[in-house]
Amino acid sequence: MQDNVVIVGTGQAALSCAVRLRDSGYEGAVTMLGDEPWLPYQRPPLSKVYLKGETTADRLELRPQEFFAKGGIVVERGSVVTSVNRSNRSVTTFDRRSYSYSKLVLSTDSRARTLPDAMTHGLDGILTMRSIADADRLRRALAKAKRVVVVGGGYVGLEVASIAVRMGHAVTIVEMTDRVLKRVAGAPTAQAIEELHVRHGAPVLTNAQLKGLSGHHGTVSGVSLGSGTLLPADLVLVAIGGMANVELAAETGLTVENGIVVHRFGQTSAPHIYVAGDCAAFPFGGRLIRLESVQNAIEQGSVVANAILGRPVEYEPVPWFWSDQYDATLQTAGLALDYDDILAVSMEPGRSAFWYFRDGLAVAVDTMNDAKTHMAARRLFGARVELRRELLLKPDSTSCSTFVQPPCRLDQ
Ligand SMILES: Cc1cc2nc3c(=O)[nH]c(=O)nc-3n(C[C@H](O)[C@H](O)[C@H](O)COP(=O)(O)OP(=O)(O)OC[C@H]3O[C@@H](n4cnc5c(N)ncnc54)[C@H](O)[C@@H]3O)c2cc1C
Repeated sequence: MQDNVVIVGTGQAALSCAVRLRDSGYEGAVTMLGDEPWLPYQRPPLSKVYLKGETTADRLELRPQEFFAKGGIVVERGSVVTSVNRSNRSVTTFDRRSYSYSKLVLSTDSRARTLPDAMTHGLDGILTMRSIADADRLRRALAKAKRVVVVGGGYVGLEVASIAVRMGHAVTIVEMTDRVLKRVAGAPTAQAIEELHVRHGAPVLTNAQLKGLSGHHGTVSGVSLGSGTLLPADLVLVAIGGMANVELAAETGLTVENGIVVHRFGQTSAPHIYVAGDCAAFPFGGRLIRLESVQNAIEQGSVVANAILGRPVEYEPVPWFWSDQYDATLQTAGLALDYDDILAVSMEPGRSAFWYFRDGLAVAVDTMNDAKTHMAARRLFGARVELRRELLLKPDSTSCSTFVQPPCRLDQ
């Protein structure tokens, strides 16, 4: 069989892999199969500038059509891959087209988690946010709605909430755990973010158990909570996280555990099949983790390309992420896993950093409106510099003097 790579998915990871292959001189065919009608596009603006109407869908595309034509990268849009046949190394799409591969890359992303039908009763006005189509639906709904309930205090929900508030809507955020950003950030960061929303007039209801949604003439009209509270709503955004699209992988017998399990070089339990992006569960710090971020998609795409090219490079990421809410930019460098201490550093009103430590060494930092610290931390984590807690506190420290500010402990 001639050397050729088929990539399922046309997103950020898929593009990164294809570009890396071509940039490294790969001469076989490269075909990307994606179920959406767009060229590869970036999702972060969907819940930011795109929802605000400050940019258009075609501007979200990561590369123009000519780029793919020139680079010999075939992008098949509207192509849902429905099965993988490992014995004859081919994939089949919903319309029965078949593509053979010598190497297969799955970058099938994650999808928005939804509420059970028993709770939503098929009512209109209950939306999720993942794609351009979702953002368009949400934009249209926001133009008509007055009372918005956001279910889920994660990044996507909080970003949409901030935009809805700015549009003049009455917004309530409903979070089932004791604070927002529970999965991704520590308590001090969550507290700062909750305060930000409350300051802008959006109540954050934590420990709130969703009982059900009610409607009027087929459209949602309220959200009832276990506490007995009924929140009136003409629009409900369900932003309760993502689930990796693992079905294709599972059906073809690949190991699946929260995501599609890969080794350090992006390869699955099957030879010739690789995985990159949101759907990959990869080894990190002695466990398998899955990240939903642009950084992860881009770097894993590249790691997979290297493995395909026979020049494997281990994936050892320094994760980073950002979120825009109101006038605040929250950025994270590193991964706040297994930390035993948090140090909150406040520079001036509205500008702060929250450092996470394990055994006295910094493992991550969340910054608010402090891009300088974020970028410095990314550099230092990337260079595997040991950032000791004492160093961050010592005013005359040379290596990290930019970080040093009067500390205040919020976690004690
Ligand atoms: C609203 C929103 C805001 C975000 N904001 C940020 C942010 O601020 N910062 C950040 O770092 N990250 C952010 N993210 C996350 C980031 O966009 C994702 O982590 C990244 O896009 C993942 O890349 P990917 O290639 O794995 O998947 P995607 O880029 O999503 O692409 C995968 C593509 O594969 C398609 N596909 C899936 N299954 C099949 C199939 N069987 N056949 C064909 N095609 C298929 C999908 O429909 C999709 O088009 C955000 C995500 C969303 C939804």
